[in-house]
Amino acid sequence: MLSIYPIKAFQDNYIWCIQNNQSNDCVIVDPGDEKPVIDYITNNHLTLKAILITHHHYDHVDGVAPLLTYAEQLSGSKVDVFGPANNRIKAINKPLREGDHIALLGTEFMINEVPGHTLDHISYFSPQDPLHSAPWLFCGDTLFSAGCGRLFEGSPAQMLKSLKTLASYPPVTEVYCTHEYTLANLSFAQAVLPSDATIKDYTNACKIKRKSNQPTLPSTIATERHINPFLLCARDDLQSSVAQHAQTAVGDELDTFTHLRAWKDSF
Ligand SMILES: [Zn+2]
Repeated sequence: MLSIYPIKAFQDNYIWCIQNNQSNDCVIVDPGDEKPVIDYITNNHLTLKAILITHHHYDHVDGVAPLLTYAEQLSGSKVDVFGPANNRIKAINKPLREGDHIALLGTEFMINEVPGHTLDHISYFSPQDPLHSAPWLFCGDTLFSAGCGRLFEGSPAQMLKSLKTLASYPPVTEVYCTHEYTLANLSFAQAVLPSDATIKDYTNACKIKRKSNQPTLPSTIATERHINPFLLCARDDLQSSVAQHAQTAVGDELDTFTHLRAWKDSF
């Protein structure tokens, strides 16, 4: 069986480690810092087989080169580095595009291009199989629990389309995003939809987890479809709230999303 462990980095990043507890092989997702990763794989006697990258930001890639050096010195074996094609990350030796399928640790991952936060952002989806009972989604800084990434490079239309792609995965899919932003995102969600009981209840559940220093992740696609305001832009009550805040009429779902993202940027 495969399992996933969160390695904490920086202020609020999670570097996900996918590991096979029989073979002790592992795959690391978005290593922005090599130090906590080396500590974790050394302490758990793991062998690094591959690195997955979602996009080019430093807090997702700066640990890649030192990790490759570390792995090479230790085992002499080559580590595959998967990531978006056509970008500036030199260490990538397995560039990926929309619709690609890869096999790692005996399980399959499907690739989606999900521009918006950056133009090169990709996600990794692994369907349920005998090695893991729930589907997995590694979505970097595109979909956060109760939120979404800032639009540094892409347009609102690109981001909305990307979020819809991710939200269309099966409801039971476990969502592994890269930051512990959930409580801050939920306080925004409550400002947007103050009378939504589901968001209120979920906020309380996440507060309890954070009090004991537990991650609020993974979330699930089912949960996100109920509590993530950026996935609810077609809803009448959300559109009214956004219109009231922006003090203008809002049109369709994309117009609502655009105003909502701007509201969050100044929240
Ligand atoms: Zn980023």
